[in-house]
Amino acid sequence: MSSLATCLFCKIIKREIPSTKIFETDLSYAFLDIGPLSEGHSNNGPLAHQVVEHVHFHVIPKPNETEGLGIKWPSKQPTIDEVEATGKKMLEKLQSNS
Ligand SMILES: [Zn+2]
Repeated sequence: MSSLATCLFCKIIKREIPSTKIFETDLSYAFLDIGPLSEGHSNNGPLAHQVVEHVHFHVIPKPNETEGLGIKWPSKQPTIDEVEATGKKMLEKLQSNS
């Protein structure tokens, strides 16, 4: 956790580090991410430094299938025996830890 003096978000808010502001209110600041997942990817958070460093939200446009945040669900096709074997291994590990 960084201190107020070294906090990246505080430096951005104080304009010590340049950013591309999207909007600002009395309580919040939104700016474009410099490593965007898609055009318009922004960071949106409070102006005040917090114990948990600037809890913020990323707003990431999804203009098409390749840009923006991707969530993959690469499901496999296990057999029932494989599923049961996995379940057995997990139960054994849980029971050995209790
Ligand atoms: Zn801060």
